[in-house]
Amino acid sequence: MANFFSYYGNGTNNEAESRAIMEGISLCKSLGYHNILILTDSNLCFKWFYKLFKIPWPLRVWWKRIWDIAATCQVTVEHTYREGNKAADHLASLGIKHKGDGAANCHVDINFKQFLVGIEDAFSVNADSEVMPDSSMTDANGDDSDKQAAEKIPEDNGLFGEVSNHKAPANGTINIQDLETKVSSYYSLQAQFPLIYTISLAKNSTISALRTISEGEGVWDLRLRRNRFEWEDEHFRHLMTLLTGYVVEEGDDMWRWKEGNHGVFSVRSMYKLLREQSSMHNQVTNVTFPASLIWNQNMPAKVKFFFWTVMHNRTLTVDNLIRRGSLLSPVCSPCGCINESITHLFLHCTVSLRIWKEMTIPVAATYQQLFAVDSVLLWLQNWKGGHQQEWAARLWKLLPYATIWIIWKARNSKIFKGKELKVDKVCNEIKATLWFWCANWGGRKRFRFRDLIINWEQVIRGQIEPE
Ligand SMILES: [Zn+2]
Repeated sequence: MANFFSYYGNGTNNEAESRAIMEGISLCKSLGYHNILILTDSNLCFKWFYKLFKIPWPLRVWWKRIWDIAATCQVTVEHTYREGNKAADHLASLGIKHKGDGAANCHVDINFKQFLVGIEDAFSVNADSEVMPDSSMTDANGDDSDKQAAEKIPEDNGLFGEVSNHKAPANGTINIQDLETKVSSYYSLQAQFPLIYTISLAKNSTISALRTISEGEGVWDLRLRRNRFEWEDEHFRHLMTLLTGYVVEEGDDMWRWKEGNHGVFSVRSMYKLLREQSSMHNQVTNVTFPASLIWNQNMPAKVKFFFWTVMHNRTLTVDNLIRRGSLLSPVCSPCGCINESITHLFLHCTVSLRIWKEMTIPVAATYQQLFAVDSVLLWLQNWKGGHQQEWAARLWKLLPYATIWIIWKARNSKIFKGKELKVDKVCNEIKATLWFWCANWGGRKRFRFRDLIINWEQVIRGQIEPE
C-alpha cells in the first residue's frame, strides 16, 4: 500500500522509533486508512503507547503527538520479533544510507520485496502467524529481551522463513503467475508444449508433412525421436486433443492471417487484435497503455514521446542502459545513494521528493500520496485535487508531467554537463515550463508569469483573479 523511510539525523533509537510511529500513523490517515495495526520490535514503544511505562522527557513531545493523532482513528500496537521486522529494518537502513526521506519500490528493490508480507503470494503467512509465540508483553527488560526471545524461535519456523524462501530470486526462476502474465493469449504450440517440441524431429515441418490420411481419417505423426516418457504423456495427449479439434482442409500449406477475412492480413484487424489483447491484459495485470494520460495532454510532442518511453519502462535511466550493456555506475546521480530506476528517479529519490514537496504545497494531501504509489503510471492516474478556476486547474493538471520532465532534464544536465541540481532552481523551471505549455490557451494572457514564481500557492488555490 505504501512505505517510507525518513532520516532524523543523530539521536537515540527510541526517538527514531517514536517518530517513525508518528509519521506512519499520519501517513495512514492521510491515505484514508483509519484502522491501523502497528507492529514494532521495540518493546518500549509498545509499552509507551499504552502508557504502561513512563516516557523520558525528550520523547514526550513525540508521544503527545502520537496520542493526539491516534485518538482520531483506530490504532492497535503489537510487539513483533526482529524476524517480523525485516521490512522495517530494511527501510531504516535505506534511510541511513540515503540520509534523507524516501520510499522503496518492491519491483526494483528485490531485498525489500522478500521481506514484504501480503503481496501476491503471501499464502503461508496467516498460517505462520497463528503459531507465532505470544509476544512477551510482561517482559520488563526493554529491547534486550526481544533478542533473547527471537533467538528461541527455531530458524525454519521463523515468521518470514517460508515466504522469503519462496521469493528468493537468486536462482533465477520465476513463478507461475509471472509466467502467465508474460505469455500472451496467442502463444505458439512450441511455447505451449515445450517437452514435445524438444523431442520432435520435425520442428520446422509444414502441417501436410506431419499429417497423413489413413482410411479417410487424418492422422498426426509428430516424428518424435524416441518413445515418450511418462511425464510427457499428459502433454502429448493434451496436444493431440487440441490438434484433433481442428478441421484440416486438403491442399498445400500456406500462411493465413486468422484474424482477418479470408486469411488476408489487414492493418485494421491487427489494430483490433492489439486493442483486444491490451484490454485482456488489462484485466489480468491492470496494465495497459494509458493513451489518454499521455497523448491527450497539452504538452509538446517530444514530452509526450518521453512519457511514452517512461510508461514502457524504456527511458534510458541507468538501470535500462546497464541492461543494454553499458558500463555505468548504477547509482542515481541526483542523490548519489540508491540505484537509479525510473520510479526512484522520478518519484522517491530524496532530491525529487523535495521538489514534489515544494510544488504540491498548495494541495496538502498530494505529497503523502507519493508514498503509496510505486510507478509513474499510478502517480499520474491518482493525481487529483486542484482548484476549479480554469487557470489553476490547467496548471495543476499539467504539474506532474512538467515536474517529471524537468527532473529528467535536470538529471541529464547534471550527468552530461556537470550542472548542480538545485531544488529551488528546478521548481522555478517547472513553473516556467507550465507557463510555456499553457501558451496555446487564450486565457493565459490575463495572468502574469511572475505570480507563478512568487505566488505559487495562491495561483494553484485559484486565489489570483484574471486581469
Ligand atoms: Zn536518487
